[in-house]
Amino acid sequence: MTGTAYDPQNIFGKILRGEVPCHKVYENEHVIAFMDVMPQADGHTLVVPKAASRNLLDADPAALGHLYAAVQIVARAAKAAFAADGVAVYQYNEAAAGQTVFHLHVHVLPRHEGVSPRRHVDGMADPAVLAQHAERIRAALAH
Ligand code: 5GP
Repeated sequence: MTGTAYDPQNIFGKILRGEVPCHKVYENEHVIAFMDVMPQADGHTLVVPKAASRNLLDADPAALGHLYAAVQIVARAAKAAFAADGVAVYQYNEAAAGQTVFHLHVHVLPRHEGVSPRRHVDGMADPAVLAQHAERIRAALAH
């Protein structure tokens, strides 16, 4: 479905308002970043702008600059934290393109040579493992 209005009851809206917990790794005036609960790779992090939009298509261009500046910060830290060979950064727009949560967000995935990512929106991770992974990224951000 395209052209639908932003719904503030989406799960990331709730996380941004503090109504639902998350394993936060980074926050500034414009964004929050936290662990994906169904990670496609260890260290899979989501970077979410505080400004409300469904996705890239209805976002304020000014918000995109702030968002991608934060994506770079998180990508560098996730790569270091997981001793990755590279980082995949991706972002879906509308259900037809694979979007399942309708508040703009960017996926940051540490990638290792020869290791395929797990399927999108597959199994839930152990919260204790996510907490450890978040701590590793926070530690890398502190350096
Ligand atoms: P999308 O398909 O919209 O690009 O990705 C949404 C992502 O949000 C998926 O990777 C999914 O695992 C993740 N996700 C869904 N619900 C929650 C949640 O309640 N908390 C967190 N941290 N991630 C979620």
